[in-house]
Amino acid sequence: MTDVAALTPMEVPTRAGRLIEHLPAAGIDALLVSHLPNIRYLTGFTGSAALLLVGRDGLTFVTDGRYSDQASEQLRAAAVDATVRVGRTNAEQRELLSGAVFGPTRLGMEAEHVSWARQREIASSWFEGADLVPTSGLVEALRELKDPGEVDRIEAAADIADAALSSVRRRLADRPRERDFAFELEVEMRRLGADGPSFETIVGSGPNGAKPHARPTDRVIAEGDLVVLDFGALVDGYHSDISRTICVGEPSATQLRMLDVVTASQAAGVGAVHEGAAAAEVDRVCRDVIGDAGWADAFVHGTGHGVGLDIHEAPRVGSSSDATLVAGQVVTVEPGVYLPEHGGVRVEDTMLVTADGARVLTKSPKHWTI
Ligand code: ZN
Repeated sequence: MTDVAALTPMEVPTRAGRLIEHLPAAGIDALLVSHLPNIRYLTGFTGSAALLLVGRDGLTFVTDGRYSDQASEQLRAAAVDATVRVGRTNAEQRELLSGAVFGPTRLGMEAEHVSWARQREIASSWFEGADLVPTSGLVEALRELKDPGEVDRIEAAADIADAALSSVRRRLADRPRERDFAFELEVEMRRLGADGPSFETIVGSGPNGAKPHARPTDRVIAEGDLVVLDFGALVDGYHSDISRTICVGEPSATQLRMLDVVTASQAAGVGAVHEGAAAAEVDRVCRDVIGDAGWADAFVHGTGHGVGLDIHEAPRVGSSSDATLVAGQVVTVEPGVYLPEHGGVRVEDTMLVTADGARVLTKSPKHWTI
């Protein structure tokens, strides 16, 4: 395990206060937070069941019997001031939460994270006298700006992914199956202190690499393959995300050009990242380099995304994104070119947006031949 105590502490106790400041603009008096990564962000709680009512009177945290000790301990450790209640049944939890809502209230719900069935249940019987208001991205907007403790965790996760790749990449010379190499990368990240992989590791060799989100298969990696690796580590809830493409044997002329073009595109994209830059402009800069090479149609996905408690979070870095980058965001830049007869190439770094550029947290060399 990574020594979390050695990392910069996170500023958990101030987060709910900043959320409360945003409630009036969202047209609500209180927000019922149900999305667990958002609850973790606001309270430090890492369990699998909780609801958090955030209002001007403070925080009411409700969980079930499995988490009574853990919830109290984690909220205390994070110095979060909340009323912690344990409801053993759904009905008990409803009582506890409805008892914390007084009088006519405009109560926000996290529209993207509440099922239809749950919404109907809450609307019909949970909060009498409350108007339920759908809200979108209120906590996610706060989460975009990382505090130094969060950056430390993402960087620790990026370092582990770099070190794992550096130590196992040579095993590609033994021509493993894709799934076995994926497993080796994941085991190595665990051995180096990750809590787990950030997401299901992608190892796409040969024609499989031309599918941007290929799952590892039984295919044996062969001489002449481009091998797309896309993976990351998880540290204290925070993700990292890296893609590298390794050529097994000597690349063909086309493969070498793919590697050079995508690497140049990615470097141009990183160069365009700074506070105040339009996310769509970063995408355009990457796309132009690939378009100039004649492969515009072979770059079939967006350029990047925010990274934090979720592997994909705001801001989106793509042609239709209306986001403007802000110092403190952590984003990826990951252009690719996919040609079924030659394979795929993707190069991706995770980086912190700064006032005048990007601090790239991924440090692995850009491509190798094995
Ligand atoms: Zn990514």
